[in-house]
Amino acid sequence: MNVRDSDAVAAMLIAAGHQQAVNENDADLIIVNSCSVRGKAEDKAIGKLGILCSAKHKRPGRKVGLMGCMAQRLGTDIFQKIPLLDFSVGTRRCGAITNLVKRVETGETNIFEISSPEATPDVPDSHNETGHSAFVTILLGCNRRCAYCIVPDVRGPEFNRPASEIIAEIKTLTRHGIREVTLLGQSVFRYGDMDKVWNENDPVSPGGFTEPFSRLLEAVAAIPGIKRIRFTSGHPTGCTDELVRAMSSLPQVCHHLHLPVQSGSDRILKAMRRGYTRAGYLDAIQRLRIAMPDFAITSDVIVGFPGESVDDFEETRSLMEIAGFDNTFIFKYSPRPGTPAAEMNDDVCDDEKRRRNQVLLADQDKLGQLNNEALIGSIQEVLVDGPSLRNAERWAGRTPGNKIAVFTPTDSLKPGTLAKVRIIKAAPQTLYGELI
Ligand code: SAH
Ligand code: SF4
Repeated sequence: MNVRDSDAVAAMLIAAGHQQAVNENDADLIIVNSCSVRGKAEDKAIGKLGILCSAKHKRPGRKVGLMGCMAQRLGTDIFQKIPLLDFSVGTRRCGAITNLVKRVETGETNIFEISSPEATPDVPDSHNETGHSAFVTILLGCNRRCAYCIVPDVRGPEFNRPASEIIAEIKTLTRHGIREVTLLGQSVFRYGDMDKVWNENDPVSPGGFTEPFSRLLEAVAAIPGIKRIRFTSGHPTGCTDELVRAMSSLPQVCHHLHLPVQSGSDRILKAMRRGYTRAGYLDAIQRLRIAMPDFAITSDVIVGFPGESVDDFEETRSLMEIAGFDNTFIFKYSPRPGTPAAEMNDDVCDDEKRRRNQVLLADQDKLGQLNNEALIGSIQEVLVDGPSLRNAERWAGRTPGNKIAVFTPTDSLKPGTLAKVRIIKAAPQTLYGELI
């Protein structure tokens, strides 16, 4: 979501006459987009801002701004921590940035722009992507209030973007060569739950108001030029039969879901207020896999939530194995101010959190290797990105399961092509193959 917001702000500034700097040292304006999900993410942003602001004299006139969740959370306190910061803008006021930049150019400093969480948010629809994939926000904020999570405080309550706006934005993107979209929201299956987001007379509203997220998928799939549709994050309670039907019947929808589980222990899931059980989670992914045998699942896990015993942790390990995740992002629990979990005793010590983190990383490596080895010999459709990071003679692309596939290109191959690759070798996070 922050990548999307940064891209939108870059596009807004370019439209206002600015140019993108080639690297940080050459920039006259640097905006740090911050995350508040864990304390460490905030510490990094503060460290970065401190370095940028104390080096301002090296490039006279340079302005430094802050956006994102930490800007929203800290309010004007940020100027006590970073006195040389020129401006700070909250999560729902991205649209104000062009104006703030104009004001700091005339010499104003320490300006602060924030809105109450209830205010209608700015949803910038500008894009600066250069490739063939784009993120499109469908749902802002979150109403779930998991016990550990600061997102509902800093991103505010759910706000559904009208479907007609989403469709118009994607149509514009296809005219600029975008072939793959990833629909974004904290809990995308809740799309359309709160407000009426469909206009009954709107042609992009096939099938009325039931299960609006599935209707949205159908409407996006009907846009000519869109070859792949992804979305993140999902929540197990939204994996309805209708969703499974929509996903499996629309050829553009990738057979991949990022479905954070957080823990495999019912006791911890309850304390986290996640709203599902271990069995409910496993049932959701089983139904997806029955309908789509090639389905890939990735997840998020928190280790060391208050009260997590070794037995609870072992339940998470066994769930990961049963679920056979293709990749897992593992987070050490970090108490966030004002959340219900911050009132609980943070009783798993740092060393133990680190140990559990390492164990899960090693487990996930084995799972990734096994899953990827099972794909050896298969033919995967790859959306070609271009030269791979490690070796420019090899190119990389993504499979529908969102795995990186590396192969030797032909002279005529272009980024953005859907190519067929036969898999011949597997690593935990990467597939290697030959172009067909
Ligand atoms: N809306 C998404 C998650 C967004 S936050 C969902 O519900 O799936 C991204 C991830 O950060 C979460 O899935 C969780 O694993 C992690 N996270 C959130 N709060 C955290 C905290 N206080 N400590 C550690 N990890 C946290
Ligand atoms: Fe946070 Fe839970 Fe909302 Fe995800 S669903 S953003 S974890 S409160």
